[in-house]
Amino acid sequence: MSSEPLMRTRIRVEQDVFAVRQLGREVAREVGFEVRDQTRLATALSEVGRLLVAAGRDSDVVFTTTADGVPTLLVELTHPVPGDGDRLRPQLIQVSRLIDTLEVGDAEPGTVVRMSRRLPPSSPALNPDRMEEIRERLAGLVPGTPLDELSEQNQQLIAALDEVRAQRDDLARLNAELEETNKGVMALYHQLSDELEETNRGVVALYAELDEKSVQLRTASEAKSRFLANVSHELRAPVTAIIGLGRLLSDESSDELTAEQSRQVELIRGSATDLLSLVNDLLDLAKAEAGRVEANWSEVDLKAVFGQLRGTLRPLATQPAVDFVVEEPAVSRLRSDEVLLAQVLRNLLTNALKFTAEGSVRLGVAQVGDNVEFTVADTGAGIPAELHERIFEEFYQVPGSRALSGKGTGLGLPYARRLVGILGGAMRVSSTPGEGSVFTVSLPVSP
Ligand code: ADP
Repeated sequence: MSSEPLMRTRIRVEQDVFAVRQLGREVAREVGFEVRDQTRLATALSEVGRLLVAAGRDSDVVFTTTADGVPTLLVELTHPVPGDGDRLRPQLIQVSRLIDTLEVGDAEPGTVVRMSRRLPPSSPALNPDRMEEIRERLAGLVPGTPLDELSEQNQQLIAALDEVRAQRDDLARLNAELEETNKGVMALYHQLSDELEETNRGVVALYAELDEKSVQLRTASEAKSRFLANVSHELRAPVTAIIGLGRLLSDESSDELTAEQSRQVELIRGSATDLLSLVNDLLDLAKAEAGRVEANWSEVDLKAVFGQLRGTLRPLATQPAVDFVVEEPAVSRLRSDEVLLAQVLRNLLTNALKFTAEGSVRLGVAQVGDNVEFTVADTGAGIPAELHERIFEEFYQVPGSRALSGKGTGLGLPYARRLVGILGGAMRVSSTPGEGSVFTVSLPVSP
């Protein structure tokens, strides 16, 4: 909805174009446009006026404002030349950029050019009183001469040029700042990449040193294993000979020994037997550590393995108060190395029997997720929590723990854990002193 026109005027001759330009600027100023927008509107108006005057007929100019929606200033220029739109449209393309909308249409009795521009949000509200006030002021306006308008136009041009120059200067300053910043960023980037390169070089050197150290460590460890393997191997023959000779000496078919001699020969034989088991354990461990033990993969029948363990270990279960139970295996088959697996389980069961005076020692197996878990549970002496890792160290024996039979070397568990590793699994222990221990061997179903 547009309200009562703010102002009407007429363009008859070329001079009127100047007057309309001036009027347009005044109207724009009155309704609240800032200087730059006033110039835009005045310029658009004088351009349209100039084109209309060229057609040689009088044109009506009407200024209105819309009150609804966004307040907008409308200017309509009508002249009685029908179908003049085709001539005007191409010439008004540039002009349309100065305002929000510009349309050329047919109107009674000829052609109409409609222009609009939204009022800035800061412009005062256009209530009827205000409109009346503006109308009065515009009516009292004394139109300047074309010369006045020309000088005004010149002033505006100079102001516009100044603004352009200021903007150009701003742009140049911004560019300079940008260049400066870019230089700073580049310098920072170079510094960072230098530092990175430096750090990388350090890391590479460190890794090289680490590699070298681990090669040295591996060589040393291999040398140790080789030495152990060789020494134990060399020791085995003479120790076995000592045991044999001892047996020979105490044999009934040999010359009778005195009671004291007999006792001493027994001592020698006992010590040599202990030594032989130590040498054997050392040899096993050294072989495993040197990577000389390899798994011989096959389908293992657990029922058979359990049966064999039950048979061979039953004689060791000498404590009358201990229930020795090898359960029926809940998993019947497993891809593994039968000999190594049996060796590990035998080792754990022997330990359990050695350290259990009453209650039970029990071997079981169950499938847990993707693993097959063997458990050797006893109700024996138990192991303090802080020693659960140490018992897997070579030669370590829990202080004060006393085996019910045999001495032990402290090499059984490290060896067993190594074998489990070769089988692709892991071994863990949970134990409480005075209550018992559970050793769990977890092997993958498909190694
Ligand atoms: P060894 O049995 O020859 O001494 P191991 O390496 O097999 O050597 O075991 C190390 C130590 O761990 C044992 O000396 C013992 O103190 C402790 N240990 C192992 N198994 C058990 C168990 N089932 N109950 C209590 N203590 C155990």
